[in-house]
Amino acid sequence: MITIQNNNNERRILLLDSQFNLEESPDFPEYLFDAVFIFNESVEQTQNILNDINPITSQKCCYKPLFVARSLEGKMGDYASVIDGYIDDWNDKDALNKVEDIINRRNELGLNTPEEKILSSNQLFVRLTRFLIIRNNLIMHPVLENGSSSGYVIPIYNLFYKLGWYKLSESFVFVQSMVEKGYFRTTQFLNRIYLCPKCQHSHLLYIESCPKCNNSMIHSEEVIHHFRCANITPEHTYNFGGQLRCPKCHQMLHHIGVDYDRPATVFTCDVCNNSFLQAKMQALCSNCQSVSDVKSLVPINVYVYEITKEGIYAITSLNIGFSIYTEFHDNFLEFNRFVNRIRLLAEQKFSGRILGDVLVGKIWIIDSTSATVRNRAELLAQVCQYFPNNKVSAANNITYINAIATDYKGDQEQAVLDFQIMLSEAIRAAAYVLRPGEKICYTYMKLEGNGSNIDDFLNDLNFVATNPDDSVDYDPNAINPNGDRQVDSPLLKDDGTVETEIEAIDLNKPAEVPNDTEDTQESGNTSFLNKVKDSICHIFSSH
Ligand SMILES: [Zn+2]
Ligand SMILES: [Zn+2]
Ligand SMILES: [Zn+2]
Repeated sequence: MITIQNNNNERRILLLDSQFNLEESPDFPEYLFDAVFIFNESVEQTQNILNDINPITSQKCCYKPLFVARSLEGKMGDYASVIDGYIDDWNDKDALNKVEDIINRRNELGLNTPEEKILSSNQLFVRLTRFLIIRNNLIMHPVLENGSSSGYVIPIYNLFYKLGWYKLSESFVFVQSMVEKGYFRTTQFLNRIYLCPKCQHSHLLYIESCPKCNNSMIHSEEVIHHFRCANITPEHTYNFGGQLRCPKCHQMLHHIGVDYDRPATVFTCDVCNNSFLQAKMQALCSNCQSVSDVKSLVPINVYVYEITKEGIYAITSLNIGFSIYTEFHDNFLEFNRFVNRIRLLAEQKFSGRILGDVLVGKIWIIDSTSATVRNRAELLAQVCQYFPNNKVSAANNITYINAIATDYKGDQEQAVLDFQIMLSEAIRAAAYVLRPGEKICYTYMKLEGNGSNIDDFLNDLNFVATNPDDSVDYDPNAINPNGDRQVDSPLLKDDGTVETEIEAIDLNKPAEVPNDTEDTQESGNTSFLNKVKDSICHIFSSH
């Protein structure tokens, strides 16, 4: 059963008691309800419903207050982190207040418009963080979880990890970059743990083995030092019918500490007979089955994190999605920095210090009502890639490309024309991001006049032209030029930096050249983890 009922504050509550394909159902659009109440008494069934209907990954329920049956309190595991309350009656005073609080906080934060569909792990992390900010749950406290892949988990992250929304390494990258930007801060150190360098799982079996043949069929034995003749050999060489006799001088041994002692333990390999003082310690990963030297395990410091004031501001601002996506594209600039750059170029242009034309290309998408749509991270990533030598930015529902067009043969018009041709090609390459009824457009601005025009020129950046220079309509057959990489978090994988790092790792360890997509992804992440490792600690190599 699924229905919508008003609560005493005239908020519309979506009530349901069983699994329902809400996202696909035309009868229940996003704007028709303000909160959700799942009234099912079964833990398992409620969890199944929550896999799709939750305030983070569901498009229609995104950030909305969500309640489940009172009898489930304390039984929901990681799912508890997406539940706002356990109720019998949606007119419960607490439930009424909670709904108002969440709706008001969303409005205050400006997060009241529907979100884009989640296409990558970073989008998920942004949503998850926004959800926490709306709930004012700013502390993320890892807990030990038996059976979890990384040992310590932040429950809300773990829920979506288990539902297959991201790879572990992606969450490490995200959290690390949030800390670097000052959006998260560490408030408490919990532990330093070591993870498999291949797959970042914590399920490791530690194995002592022979340093010569790597076999773990080894045994240890004490060494006996005979003072009289200074013979030092394993105990079994002294064994003489149950008594101890020196194999070198054949004297009987009587009193430990008087005529002999046991200074050390040696290992002997049962396979190759090698004797050694220190066994080689290796870690066998029970997840990916790789065997690593313990020195190469990835140390991770486990901290309690808090979302900072700067983080709240940045993560709730609409541009955050882009800065996370595009930090891998080094030609992306935050809009205010982009504007400053154009101002600088304009000043240089008017003082004769640069030749050529200062141009700004604008790309935007309009829907069937000719209204511009919010910037899409995918489009921005595509443009960053398409114009690797130009600065790119995004704001005001517009993606910007800055160029200084110079033609050394003196044909300045041709140089400007070349830029236009590139823009035309770029919107064609990016047309796959369009949805039915949409159209992608471009126009460009050229700085002209004299120094007094600069502010007008900069001001014009904020607007789109009524008549674009070129446009492309939605085409259901449009293909993503990077389509073959779209299987898993396309934007992250389109990134040049990550690819370079994979090469770097291959050079260091030629034996580990990845041989399929899955491996490629993991190797790229491994290289990141190695970087983290280098910067954080080297406990094993320090002794
Ligand atoms: Zn002896
Ligand atoms: Zn051996
Ligand atoms: Zn592993």
